[in-house]
Amino acid sequence: MAAGDAAPPLRVAIFGSGPAGFYATEDLLKQQAQPAQVDLFDRLPTPYGLVRGGVAPDHQNIKVVIKIYERAAGRPGFRFFGNVRFGEHLNLQEVLAHYHMALFCTGAESDRRMGIPGEDLPGSYPATELVGWYNGHPDYRHLTFDLSRPRVAVIGNGNVAMDVARILAKPQQELASTDIADYALAALAQSGIQEIFLLGRRGPAQAAFTNPEIRELAEIPGVDLVVRPEELELDAPSQAFLASVKEPTYQRNVDILRKQIPKGTGTQPRKIWARFFVSPVALLGEGRVQAIRLEKNKLVQDESGSVKAVGTGQHEDLPVDLVFRSIGYKGLGLPGLPYDAKSGIVPNHDGRVVDPASGQPVPRLYVAGWIKRGPSGVIGTNKPDAAETVARMLEDAKSLALPTGLNPDPAAMPTLLASKGVRVVTFGDWKKLDQLEVAAGKAHGKPREKFTTVQAMLAALG
Ligand code: NAP
Repeated sequence: MAAGDAAPPLRVAIFGSGPAGFYATEDLLKQQAQPAQVDLFDRLPTPYGLVRGGVAPDHQNIKVVIKIYERAAGRPGFRFFGNVRFGEHLNLQEVLAHYHMALFCTGAESDRRMGIPGEDLPGSYPATELVGWYNGHPDYRHLTFDLSRPRVAVIGNGNVAMDVARILAKPQQELASTDIADYALAALAQSGIQEIFLLGRRGPAQAAFTNPEIRELAEIPGVDLVVRPEELELDAPSQAFLASVKEPTYQRNVDILRKQIPKGTGTQPRKIWARFFVSPVALLGEGRVQAIRLEKNKLVQDESGSVKAVGTGQHEDLPVDLVFRSIGYKGLGLPGLPYDAKSGIVPNHDGRVVDPASGQPVPRLYVAGWIKRGPSGVIGTNKPDAAETVARMLEDAKSLALPTGLNPDPAAMPTLLASKGVRVVTFGDWKKLDQLEVAAGKAHGKPREKFTTVQAMLAALG
């Protein structure tokens, strides 16, 4: 490079266009110190990951973050490659032949299992499947759930469990003006569900849900949130826990639940029973789920101070017709990258992918979001998470010897994908789909009517 020549741009491939992918894109493209170009890939033709396919349809306000992602997509140096799956359409070798660095923001596409007998009986599902189904995600739109029977168990006390309970409990007219998939709205209109059992293995003081989410359950028209007063009494470990945590969310959760005590079981036709200190130990049934066997727990504090649920040996069989386990998402391995199967993440130090055998960083490979830290936090948590990884990438761009022989032709990647018969969906294509969805939704008083199959999306693009 002759003196005075501008440094060549850092070329980055990002896989996964959810929050982490877009925050990383924004951070790379807005900084001036190291000019960068970002090609953002997604296996779906549509961007935004869980903001489109995970956030509950009745939480439209959360989706305003899309405005920030659109701003990133408008920056010079940005290209979107939708409908391209890493490992199928592109391998790691090809990626590293075209880009200085690859950043994986592929999230947590699978779910954790309970590992109990009967878990795979018909009628037992991961909550993630129901979430994908009502959100019109192409992977789940073909599923059917028998919502005709009255009793449903939702296992877990996180915000996904809150979303699932709320969507199943809400009257259909409350959902009709959201972007819920049309087939899901039709199925929920016929729902025979009367009772939803939210099953927490620890106590109300340790629940993972947040205040607005549990409060919302108490405010659904036609629904009573019902508690057992004795399960809201705080045992010694819970008192110690609440005294030790600075975060007020936990105490407020207890307060919101206690407010439900005076109404008893209430008068509304649908009930959400918030149960605590119970662990599922088996799903029971002939040919389909008919009951869930619960073991009563007590809480103990271990030497690290964390509060754990321990079985007491006392059991109860709760008759239920459907079970949704909502006990956490799990990241999947990526071909050519190390993977920690236990935690479902790519091993890394602050976003630099690390070879577990040597403990050393693997040059040019990075992670951000749930595949980096596991499935925790809200959408905004991915902003500092992505910023940390991008900071490491920019440090490495300065200090490491990056390859010099990359193909400089911007058309090389589209040409490679076209040679493999991949129909790449550009950001302009997505904007067309977006407009079509919004127009289709308008006719039904919805913010959008989503395309729910890749085939329909590609057909609409012609
Ligand atoms: P989560 O918050 O980690 O909650 C998982 C729940 O499952 C916990 O209550 C956990 O109990 C329980 N659990 C785990 N293993 C279990 C087992 N074997 N048996 C019984 N219960 C078990 O996970 P999530 O609900 O999937 O949410 C993922 C992330 O997305 C969270 O950070 C969440 O806040 C976020 N999110 C946010 C929103 C929102 O802001 N509205 C909506 C959806 C999701 P323990 O506590 O005892 O481990």
